[in-house]
Amino acid sequence: MPYLDPDQKEKLLERLRPKLRGCPCSPYGARLEVGDLAAAPVLERGVPSGVATGNQFVPMIPVICKNCGQIQWYSAIGLVDLNG
Ligand SMILES: [Zn+2]
Repeated sequence: MPYLDPDQKEKLLERLRPKLRGCPCSPYGARLEVGDLAAAPVLERGVPSGVATGNQFVPMIPVICKNCGQIQWYSAIGLVDLNG
């Protein structure tokens, strides 16, 4: 089940909106929406780049341009209750 429901995504978009500058690829047609919460693995020193070996992740909120598909990532820390 996705971490965020549609209402939570809409509230996040409104909260992020002051920081958003539209989409650089769609200056006249950006239609932004918040996607499902995702996480990027934290890389470790001494491990070849691109190989994730640990279990630490950076929680991220994707803001997706529905016009061209470009994604802007924002940290979910402080914006989403990650304990629920
Ligand atoms: Zn766009």
